[in-house]
Amino acid sequence: MHRTWVEIKELALSSNIQTLRSLIGNGAVFCAVVKANAYGHGLKEVARIARRNGVDAFAVDCIEDALILRDLFPTSLIIVLGYTMSERFHEAIREQIDLTLYDLEGLREAEAAASKSALPARVHLKIETGTSRQGVSMDDLPDLLNLFRESKYLQLIGVSTHFANIEDTTNTEYATLQYHRFTEALELVRTFELEPEYIHCACSAAILLYPQTYGTLVRAGIAMYGIWSSAMVEETMHKQSISCELQPVLSWKTRIAQVKSIPGGTPIGYGLTEIVQKRSRIAVLPVGYWDGYDRRLSSRGEVLIAGYRCKVMGRVNMNMIMVDVSSVPNVQKNQEVILIGKDARNMITADAMAQKISTIPYEVLARINASIPRIVV
Ligand SMILES: *Cc1c(COP(=O)(O)O)cnc(C)c1O
Repeated sequence: MHRTWVEIKELALSSNIQTLRSLIGNGAVFCAVVKANAYGHGLKEVARIARRNGVDAFAVDCIEDALILRDLFPTSLIIVLGYTMSERFHEAIREQIDLTLYDLEGLREAEAAASKSALPARVHLKIETGTSRQGVSMDDLPDLLNLFRESKYLQLIGVSTHFANIEDTTNTEYATLQYHRFTEALELVRTFELEPEYIHCACSAAILLYPQTYGTLVRAGIAMYGIWSSAMVEETMHKQSISCELQPVLSWKTRIAQVKSIPGGTPIGYGLTEIVQKRSRIAVLPVGYWDGYDRRLSSRGEVLIAGYRCKVMGRVNMNMIMVDVSSVPNVQKNQEVILIGKDARNMITADAMAQKISTIPYEVLARINASIPRIVV
């Protein structure tokens, strides 16, 4: 029994994986992106379900998460997408975790760590193609490739890049330009007689819309969790009448801590920001911004109780919110409340919540506090 918890629907996750896999076909490896606690869904919970569905490649942001996965899966491909400090290279090498590197300094340190442990350093070289994030420029690429050719311990396992604007289907030019630059980098890699096994650049939007970007591995994040990368991606898919059904995997629930009646004119919560007009019934819920329920949902958020939409009254507190339950019959202490998810009558999507606070569902999901229990249902 939890007062606030996250439910992960195994069937939905499995179905999304299968849906994406059927788009991808057999040409490319399906790599599940499970960074940020699997987009708030729970790293281990999601990874185990994905593994049961035959997924054998995982991408994380940091070495800490990679080590957790290595404990679960002794032989799976595990790629760290983000920055790894050289002090941690020996752990990655010992556990045969793949690193994303993009500069000479990093490669030299990886080589030193690898030669010390007499094990190969498995490296994905990230190419700067226009996101201005991690990545080696075309100018610096030859020096790095030389190092791979000369080094006994550096293994070029993958070459990758990341799109900056692929979710915007009104402007495909920039993605095309980035893909073109990526192709040029790959040609250069070939002239160095290096044969990386994994060529990868496709995130969810690319998986859904641009099969030409698949390479030999795709990195599936948001779509695997049953959420469209953007409304535009969804629209474009439908316009092209590609049938693709994504099912939201996550629900976020809590319980009523107290129900009370307050007379008209009574203010609610910190700052007295909201005053009820008439006699109202208020429910206090044990969830707040610490849990990831954004403070900008103050007086704006909605929750579902017994099929009714109930508005957040006053400010979101650190660990509590108050909602108006005046129109809900028989509200009880301990009764279940849906923060994200659906019941028989209504639904609150991560996307709808994100729009209320001018952000994207990625952020809403990723910020659900990792200390909240994830329950697989
Ligand atoms: C997060 C991330 C992805 C996944 O993106 P989605 O849009 O969630 O599919 C892929 N590649 C990299 C490098 C990422 O950081």
